[in-house]
Amino acid sequence: MTTPFDRVFLGDIVTSSEVIRAGYVAIRGETIAAIGQGAPPPATDTIDHTGRYIMPGLVDGHMHTSSALGWPGIEGATRSAAAGGVTTCVDMPYDSPQAVTSAAVLAEKITWVNRTAHVDMALYGTIRKTGGVDEIAGLAQAGISAFKLSTYEYDAVRFPRIDHPTMLAAFAEIAKTGLPVAVHNEDQELVEKLTAEARAAGNTSPIWHCRTRPPLAETMADLEIFEIGLQTGAHVHIAHSSVARGFAIAEDFRTQGGKATGEACIQYLCMTEEDIVRLAGRGKCNPPFRTAAEVERMWEALLADKIAYVSTDHAPWPLDRKSDPDIFNCGAGLTGMQSFAPLMFTLLDERGLSPTLMATYCAERPAKLHGLWPKKGAIKLGFDADLLVMQRADYTFDEAEIVDRPETRWSPYHGRRMRARVAETILRGRTIWNGSNVLGHPGDGKFVRRQTV
Ligand SMILES: [Zn+2]
Repeated sequence: MTTPFDRVFLGDIVTSSEVIRAGYVAIRGETIAAIGQGAPPPATDTIDHTGRYIMPGLVDGHMHTSSALGWPGIEGATRSAAAGGVTTCVDMPYDSPQAVTSAAVLAEKITWVNRTAHVDMALYGTIRKTGGVDEIAGLAQAGISAFKLSTYEYDAVRFPRIDHPTMLAAFAEIAKTGLPVAVHNEDQELVEKLTAEARAAGNTSPIWHCRTRPPLAETMADLEIFEIGLQTGAHVHIAHSSVARGFAIAEDFRTQGGKATGEACIQYLCMTEEDIVRLAGRGKCNPPFRTAAEVERMWEALLADKIAYVSTDHAPWPLDRKSDPDIFNCGAGLTGMQSFAPLMFTLLDERGLSPTLMATYCAERPAKLHGLWPKKGAIKLGFDADLLVMQRADYTFDEAEIVDRPETRWSPYHGRRMRARVAETILRGRTIWNGSNVLGHPGDGKFVRRQTV
């Protein structure tokens, strides 16, 4: 007689290729040990989610837990990840007051993650504005999942612009590590000029955020980073494209032999310029929202398999940083982690698309790009037992339910009609969210290093 499994979950199992109706996922310890359909095997604990979807826990490949508060922001942000069905956060390196620019800083951040995170975390690394290229090999060896650089400067220390010669040297060094380099893609000169003109003319209402960061500011940056990628052999990844043309450019470079990819954030699949007029500072992010027609082109790009994956770019600024009547004085970035799973499910469902696309774009693909495969990102034998249970429901998303710190309980999706909610989140076999409460604790989440190059 075989030993019973520790836990068996019953429900409709969602993989990237199919929905297995009346299926089961069996767990031993922290690992998925059996997947099937029909009568479930014996287990110490059987959890019946019949009629609900059991999906891979989401892998959010792009977020900023520590831009506002520094590393103390990790605890609250990952608590909202647990409530939102995100079981792996891939966190950006532009932390306050110190970015992750060396293996030594990375080691400190890893210690913090292992002590305070509610879900597992992979980490990006970056370089200083000058003189940081020598740290690249050490960061890769220490287990970061990817590098992140920027063509646009928010802060000379925390979030610097990397000039072309430095970017060339950095990409050449990154190419040797085999890791991807994600790049924030906006043209500094164009944006600065347009912003200065708008301010001088007194045009500081929300729509001017979009007017001063036109699609051309993105696509010009896309071209320069992909050219340097082609020259050096580095895998260059657009950290976010708000326009379908960004994915067309990436595809062009791939046909020329480049390793070129691009990511969409979920807001670019649903938000428009009218939303920033409505939301003001709460709708400010970079790149900005585009037109309704562009949103449709983004979906065409996704369905044509041109988008690497879909992330949130979650950046939980306190509400007082989002409330200035002058749009240029507001912080750029949205909250989005706790709404990620309900919103992605809803957007797909509204378009008559399968939840398998959610497993593909919000779990499997980001896990693969970040080298977390074969461990994270799918319901497969031997993978970590990271699961998300989605229950169909008809409700409006309420920002008051966000479980992050009180000052970050705001959402651009407040009042949005949703078609499913997160009924349970399981991290490596253990329930960390039961549909109404976070059951996990700080430190349940662990740093997860890149598994493969
Ligand atoms: Zn970002």
